[in-house]
Amino acid sequence: MEFLCQHVVVLGSGCAGLTAAIYSARSGYETVVVEGSLPGGQLTRAPSVENYPGFPTGISGYELISLMRKQAERFGVTFIGDEAKGAHVGEYRKIIRCENIELHCLELIVATGSSPMKLSVPGEDRYEGGGGVSSCATCDGPFYKGKVVAVVGGGNSAAAEALYLSNFCKKVYLIHRRDRMRATETTANKVLARKNIEPLWDSCVESIYGDDSRMSGLTLKNVNSGELSTLRCDGVFVSIGHRPNSDFARGFLEVDKYGYFIGAENDPAFTSVPGVFIAGDCADHTYRQAIVAAGSGARAALAMERSKNS
Ligand SMILES: Cc1cc2nc3c(=O)[nH]c(=O)nc-3n(C[C@H](O)[C@H](O)[C@H](O)COP(=O)(O)OP(=O)(O)OC[C@H]3O[C@@H](n4cnc5c(N)ncnc54)[C@H](O)[C@@H]3O)c2cc1C
Repeated sequence: MEFLCQHVVVLGSGCAGLTAAIYSARSGYETVVVEGSLPGGQLTRAPSVENYPGFPTGISGYELISLMRKQAERFGVTFIGDEAKGAHVGEYRKIIRCENIELHCLELIVATGSSPMKLSVPGEDRYEGGGGVSSCATCDGPFYKGKVVAVVGGGNSAAAEALYLSNFCKKVYLIHRRDRMRATETTANKVLARKNIEPLWDSCVESIYGDDSRMSGLTLKNVNSGELSTLRCDGVFVSIGHRPNSDFARGFLEVDKYGYFIGAENDPAFTSVPGVFIAGDCADHTYRQAIVAAGSGARAALAMERSKNS
């Protein structure tokens, strides 16, 4: 197997990894980015990003990521099309085992992101990314002003998405497979008190239908009776959880019960392993936004630099 020695290895090529790489390389460290199976990360799936500062008329996620990558290349970052499968992490030397290459480095920045969980029903893939199926109300909600939407899920995230959407959507259906929400009581009560949110209990989505380019409704199934019904809506927000991409690091980095990396109390960029830093959605189950991920990438690279100089 080929192997390569670099000063800094960044795992992940989303907004967090690319920003960390820009900061690291610009400070003079030989930096390599391992791209993972989704080069550019989740944002490449966003047809239009309207909340990233600096782009007053919006920009496609793919274009925004391409610009970040170009900026990293300008500072000499090397990109490797591979995925970390495991690592041996000592205080000084870190060895990252990828599918086709082994990387040796002194500093490791982990920015492997997370993946929204899917319904896995017919129509979901077809209408994802601009066709009406979304996993992020903060990102895509404003495209549905005055429209009818559905949120799938019953936890705190689904509740937060439904409340947010109800501020500007005409109607929000909340589809949940149980007969009550899993969200905390206070949050659930807020949802239930909102006039334009209608819960559809004991229901799950069987399929998403529409025309060639856009969805126009859902087929629902009552989990008790098995009865099928249709629900016309302009968009559906799937909020049934995210899965952090942290499996490869189990055993050497601490994760919480959901698999998110845990940062140090006094600075979330640091981990309990000297020379290993974390950034982005793999360590953030709350905000999950591009600008937040980019900011934490900068923070991880700065923390790395600071720890070397201290
Ligand atoms: C459809 C969609 C639309 C969105 N729209 C917006 C929006 O409009 N505005 C906004 O602010 N946010 C938006 N978001 C959220 C935003 O994309 C994320 O918050 C952001 O991408 C997180 O960046 P990240 O770098 O932490 O992780 P990710 O973008 O998830 O990138 C993770 C990277 O790690 C790599 N990776 C994973 N495992 C490994 C491994 N084992 N080894 C090496 N590499 C690995 C992946 O290939 C990927 O490159 C959207 C998300 C989605 C899904």
